[in-house]
Parts: sequence; C-alpha cells; structure tokens
Amino acid sequence: MSTQAVDPQSLDRHECKACGYVYEPVKGDDKRQIPPGIAFEELPADWRCPVCSARTTQFSNIGPAGSASGFQENLNYGLGVNRLTPGQKNLLIFGAVGLGFLLFISLYGLQ
Ligand SMILES: [Zn+2]
Repeated sequence: MSTQAVDPQSLDRHECKACGYVYEPVKGDDKRQIPPGIAFEELPADWRCPVCSARTTQFSNIGPAGSASGFQENLNYGLGVNRLTPGQKNLLIFGAVGLGFLLFISLYGLQ
C-alpha cells in the first residue's frame, strides 16, 4: 500500500497576499525544510512566508498547479468567431436576422 495518498500536483497552491509569493506543494519550501509534497494545510503552525514572513492566514488559495486557470478556454472562446470564414460569418448574421424576421412575422400573424 502506498503511503502517498494524494498527488502533490493536485494540491492547492497558496499565494501570499502581502508579497505575491506562491507556496507550491509540489516544491515545498527548502528555506524552512518543508519537503516537496506537503499540502499548505499541513505546514507547521509557525510557518511563515519565506519572503515577507507573513502568517499562513495571509495566504489565499489559488488552486492546484495542474488546473487550467481558464485562460486557455477563454482564448479559444474569444477566437471562436474569428476562425469563421467571411462566408460563414455572413451566414451567421443573416441567419440571425432571418430568424428574427420570421419571429416578427409569426407574432404579427397571431394578431
Ligand atoms: Zn509574503
């Protein structure tokens, strides 16, 4: 049985709100003899930011290193329309206009 229950890569990183230092569980903190793989929650109570000596309460959870920040998804989302050819764009625009027109006509017809 493995003693390592969690993958350090999946542990949450924590950023010091005072100086921007990021505690990465994958790396640990060699300045204070914290071996790699130690979760932020498992750090000793007297652990301080190695840069500015802020307490652990000054840190905010910024999620695991392995997770995408959403930037990549946003990038794809933003480029989505730009990847369309001019013809496809026209189709999209006229399609929307046509749909609106049909909706207008059908509403008009109901009265
Ligand atoms: Zn700090």
